[in-house]
Amino acid sequence: MADQAFVTLATNDNYARGAMVLGKSLRNHNTSKKLVALIGPQMSEPCKAVLKRIYDEVREVDVLDSGDTAHLAMMKRPDLGVTLTKLHCWTLTHYSKCVFMDADTLVLSNIDELFNREELSAAPDPGWPDCFNSGVFVFRPSLETYGKLLQHCTDHGSFDGGDQGVLNSFFNDWSTADISKHLPFIYNLSSIAIYTYLPAFKQYGGNAKVVHFLGKTKPWSYTYDTTSRQITGSAHDATTHPTFLLDWWSLYSRTVVPMLKEQHGDQPFYSGCVEDASRPVVDQAIPPGLSSEERKQKWEQGQADYLGMDSFDNIKKKLDSFLK
Ligand code: UDP
Ligand code: MN
Repeated sequence: MADQAFVTLATNDNYARGAMVLGKSLRNHNTSKKLVALIGPQMSEPCKAVLKRIYDEVREVDVLDSGDTAHLAMMKRPDLGVTLTKLHCWTLTHYSKCVFMDADTLVLSNIDELFNREELSAAPDPGWPDCFNSGVFVFRPSLETYGKLLQHCTDHGSFDGGDQGVLNSFFNDWSTADISKHLPFIYNLSSIAIYTYLPAFKQYGGNAKVVHFLGKTKPWSYTYDTTSRQITGSAHDATTHPTFLLDWWSLYSRTVVPMLKEQHGDQPFYSGCVEDASRPVVDQAIPPGLSSEERKQKWEQGQADYLGMDSFDNIKKKLDSFLK
């Protein structure tokens, strides 16, 4: 339908790469909806050009430039820059309904059925399930709602410093009012959850429709070897299931990198694929010989060695031995 759209946001070239992969993944699964990317003013021309090839609409939003209430809100809450930019999605009133998706999400199957849901539908946050995670949500563009959201931002700020805090305190009856607004977790499967409840992941993970690479380390923070098809960078920071990470890299290297190369012409650029890197590849091997206590500490700080010692396969083996 022409008046329904998937919307994402990328303020810089790194998040743009995420948006490119997300857009491609939606197209590959034959979405019938429009694709919209909100971008920041700092984005480079080549990235803009590639986004324009993937998305139906690429719209620059500069909260600082806009003479409207968002600008006022920004003056009072300069800390909420990206958050206020994300709220801009409510101004897309030429669509009757939209699904917002973070640029660090990847679609694994067609999810057009999300448009049967109402505002504000979202999946629980794995860290505090009475809050929804704002990486994937269904909304209705409306200038009235937009104004109220900005007012809310200015008056109350954000309890977590980001859009998720604002949206949860604004749509504060989400957890209790209407169960149909709770999206199943498979529409926003975050990497963190895989390791906090592994048996559930084993049981249901295969049904995942959207993965969310939530957290500090994003797929584009790694390096990928297209020949061996292995992730080679900062492996010890990995906070996600290696298979999903490989899915992201495979799509990125096969379909996005060629487009970026075309746009850059002869100018060198860093794709993140090792064979393209003219610079020496940094060896970021996992530090060997961590004591059990050190390992536990790292785990508790969210720094498990997910691709090495604490890899999914190893955990699964351990789990299987308990279950037997
Ligand atoms: N974002 C952006 N530029 C930034 C930070 C965030 O465009 O510098 C957008 C992007 O769409 C991103 C979303 O805001 O996916 C939410 O941020 P992020 O995914 O980093 O937060 P997390 O999901 O890890 O909590
Ligand atoms: Mn995210």
